[in-house]
Amino acid sequence: MKDVLERLGIKEFNLGAYNGEWIGNADDSQTLKVETPVDGSHIAKVYQASAEDYDAVIIAAHEKFKQWRMFPAPKRGEIVRQIGEELRKYKSDLGKLVSYEMGKIISEGEGEVQEMIDIADFAVGLSRQLYGLSMHSERPLHRMYEQWHPLGVVGVISAFNFPVAVWAWNAMIALVCGDTCVWKPSSTTPLTGIATMNIVDNVLKRNSWEGILGLVIGSGSVIGERMINDKRVPLISATGSTPMGYKVNNAVAKRMGRAILELGGNNAIIAMPDANIDMLVRGVLFAAVGTAGQRCTSLRRLIVHESIVEGVITRLLNAYKSISIGNPLDANTLMGPLADTNAVNVMMNALDKIREQGGDILFGGHRIDKPGYYVEPTIVRATKDLPMVQEETFAPILYIISFKDIDEAMEIHNSVPQGLSSAIFTTNMLSAEKFLSHEGSDCGIANVNIGTSGAEIGGAFGGEKETGGGREAGSDSWKQYMRRQTCTINYGSELPLAQGVKFDIE
Ligand code: NAD
Repeated sequence: MKDVLERLGIKEFNLGAYNGEWIGNADDSQTLKVETPVDGSHIAKVYQASAEDYDAVIIAAHEKFKQWRMFPAPKRGEIVRQIGEELRKYKSDLGKLVSYEMGKIISEGEGEVQEMIDIADFAVGLSRQLYGLSMHSERPLHRMYEQWHPLGVVGVISAFNFPVAVWAWNAMIALVCGDTCVWKPSSTTPLTGIATMNIVDNVLKRNSWEGILGLVIGSGSVIGERMINDKRVPLISATGSTPMGYKVNNAVAKRMGRAILELGGNNAIIAMPDANIDMLVRGVLFAAVGTAGQRCTSLRRLIVHESIVEGVITRLLNAYKSISIGNPLDANTLMGPLADTNAVNVMMNALDKIREQGGDILFGGHRIDKPGYYVEPTIVRATKDLPMVQEETFAPILYIISFKDIDEAMEIHNSVPQGLSSAIFTTNMLSAEKFLSHEGSDCGIANVNIGTSGAEIGGAFGGEKETGGGREAGSDSWKQYMRRQTCTINYGSELPLAQGVKFDIE
């Protein structure tokens, strides 16, 4: 990894604030020690941003915004195109660092960088499509239309499990919309954030646009809180747990800011008796075990028809036995470690509660005894009333719950507080359409014969209920990064009022 770190500009000591230049003080009391979940060994140190560093980053982003917003959108798109090209050059290195710092397998690490490239490409096209509507005015010789203006500095707070892609979803769209962007990554994965800034720095310097992208590294309770309470940041896009989302939502609402919230999920697949079982098993495996169960869209609940549940369990137990668990940088590994020791404790505590509540652990349930944070992927037979089923445990625990008919399946499906991703496996059109109907899935994402994880950037991504209601990436998510203005122009010589109101002086 030494050569990879070197190419990405990661040193033993790294400054934790960037506003076109790396700034901050090498203050050891503020040092974040970063280790790899692969074997628990030390990677590097980061000096966290102080209050002054934070201010310097926000001020630069604010000042640059005044120029950037007047730079034509397609030209902004050209800068984003170059960022996409630069990311292509570093795809392999950055993918490896994602894997090394966060623990996801290398194929997913590179996939994450591909997602950054994809959203950059999407944003380039979008830079020529920031359309407003035109309306017919009820008043003669009047024209009415809406236009979209840039918003300002967008604050991005990201979670550890998608350490770079989520930033790109926000930043690439924000940039073409004319906003500047300041990023606070998770303290578990600061190095991928630093590496990303080093990559984009090439493009910003080449085009003299330093300051449109910034970075501040620090804890949620210090730097995160500072950002969500900062009136200079009109939009906060926050990805993380639901408790964190409540804090962000309250703080941002208090100052009439805007928030995009991408919070916890509790995702389910409904398996109908007519499902293609081979596809189902493959879909379940990737969704439940992929990223060691640490995706917001990871499969947590498999709701299976009672007539096929025993057969599905047998197939899954066989498949789980052959999952290769180990170093995520090894191309043969299917499941890497959890992010850190805390993540392992969270999983083990959840398993204790599951046992107490009567859940039947059919597979796994233990930590693996070797350096790093490896655990066994776990299958639990549960009833729909098992209290732990209501919670998101950010680990590879899959509950299997059986049902009698589709109405019961839908009721179980929608009974949790979260509403991110969902799927049904069926070859029956009526079941598929019911799942997609108004009385079907209550989630932001609803799939048929596809697992719950692995969304494409072209659609709007996000979920309902305690998942926070935010939408990011494709479709018309861009509208949240701009402010809408309705304009009416009178090109006549009378001044008629709307609704026929008369207000004339005799
Ligand atoms: P987390 O909530 O611990 O932290 C997320 C981010 O919020 C971090 O950068 C953290 O420093 C920051 N933060 C924490 N408290 C804050 C505060 N008071 N003010 C401002 N910022 C604060 O989450 P995590 O453990 O990094 O990530 C896992 C969680 O994220 C899971 O619940 C997962 O479902 C969720 N997630 C959701 C999505 C989505 O799109 N819905 C995507 C990825 C992860």
